[in-house]
Amino acid sequence: MASQWLPINELASRVQAGELNAVDLVERSLKTIAEKQEYNAVIVTIETRARERAKTIDEKIVKGHKVGRLAGVPFIAKDNFLVYGADTTAASNILKGFIAPYQATAIEKLEAEGAICVAKANLDAFAHGSSTENSDFFTTKNPYDKTRVPGGSSGGSAAAVVLDLAAFALGTDTGGSIRQPASFSGCVGYKPTYGLVSRSGVVAMASSTDVIGPLTRDVSDAALVIEVMAARDGLDSTTIERSETDYAIDSVTDADNLKNKKIGIIKEYMGEGLSPGVKTQIENATVKLRRAGANITEISVPSIGMALAVYYIICPAELSSNLNRYDGQRFGYTYKESKDLDHSYSDSRGRGFGKEAKRRIMIGTHVLSSGYYDAYYKRAQTVRTKLINEFDAAFKQVDFLIGPVTPTTAFKIGANTNDPLQMYLADVMTVAPNLVGNPAISIPAGMSEGLPVGLQIMAPRRADRQLLILAKQAEELLP
Ligand code: GLN
Repeated sequence: MASQWLPINELASRVQAGELNAVDLVERSLKTIAEKQEYNAVIVTIETRARERAKTIDEKIVKGHKVGRLAGVPFIAKDNFLVYGADTTAASNILKGFIAPYQATAIEKLEAEGAICVAKANLDAFAHGSSTENSDFFTTKNPYDKTRVPGGSSGGSAAAVVLDLAAFALGTDTGGSIRQPASFSGCVGYKPTYGLVSRSGVVAMASSTDVIGPLTRDVSDAALVIEVMAARDGLDSTTIERSETDYAIDSVTDADNLKNKKIGIIKEYMGEGLSPGVKTQIENATVKLRRAGANITEISVPSIGMALAVYYIICPAELSSNLNRYDGQRFGYTYKESKDLDHSYSDSRGRGFGKEAKRRIMIGTHVLSSGYYDAYYKRAQTVRTKLINEFDAAFKQVDFLIGPVTPTTAFKIGANTNDPLQMYLADVMTVAPNLVGNPAISIPAGMSEGLPVGLQIMAPRRADRQLLILAKQAEELLP
């Protein structure tokens, strides 16, 4: 789809040069959000603050002051990011009425370079889901087919990018929630190495796999956004030292040439369960990369088939603890008719949490309970370690791994809502990098029956720059 937004660096350069006004860009974004409301991509706009920030930037430019690398660029954050003064619900009823008293480090970093957050995007409540159907408010529609889901949980962010609502969007990826909606909706979705971007000020899901990343129109945009956000942060002790080289991939050396790259296609992802339409596009992409000189072999990651089961033990375990803080007393919603404090907790949680959050709290507390801890949680952690070792072994043989992002293209709204296990299968090809912590990206790789298909590329932990370079090269070869 043709876009009304220039690439982010060009957009910012024109604002810096006074050829475009930040105020106009914000208005353009807000107008498009209003025009495309029927897609339900956005929960709330942040109009007053966005307009004020835009005005300040334009004034600074007139005065010749410095405005930053993302000057005037409007973006949309998934509604699990705290943005100063804005409603933050994570699409859950239990957070209704909560106004962020501070903001996420990621937002701080973007704002420090002049970017402007104009709205908060829809998601599956607390990021639990693969379709945005678990949002307590409404389901976002796929930009290519309104009867289908945009993917999830960052479905609102993915749809926002494809519908052109802003120049880019932010998402979170705990088990695939950036890459899967990017694949379903037809944009770039990038999950960086665990710890590269601070999680401070983002509603926690599973703390050992949560990462923050961009959803964008192309790989260069994603690289620039990550360049701005990546940093050690005293507010998140799991953050890592960033590379000294710029992640924005303007200069590429000979060593980056495709002819010097070894790529492994993940054998286990190409077999049973993969729809023919997706398979064809992944095979086409492989042919193109090979013709361009890449050395492509098949690689087996034997335990990868267990990643989904491991994820659906570890993730609920962690989130059951993280959701403990929503007790109806401190943030957002409180049930007012309870007879005493004990009931106030249970009534508020009972009414405030949706079905999926409750299901996961129950699974999580069960696998952590003394009678079942060894059988489930401990075993899952053992298999997780095995998986990490297998990925390390695979990356000794090849520089990158590739495969599909999802087994199918976007499914119909309602198709999986009565069968949570079927819904969980949408993540079967995305959860492994979250458990391992390595970076992975989804880039558009053509269409199947009118719906987008994504190609997934993975790299070793901390090889984010190399991953982005390869993704950019692949992007140029693909439809
Ligand atoms: N779809 C996965 C889940 O429901 C992943 C969610 C995510 O990455 N936030 O757990």
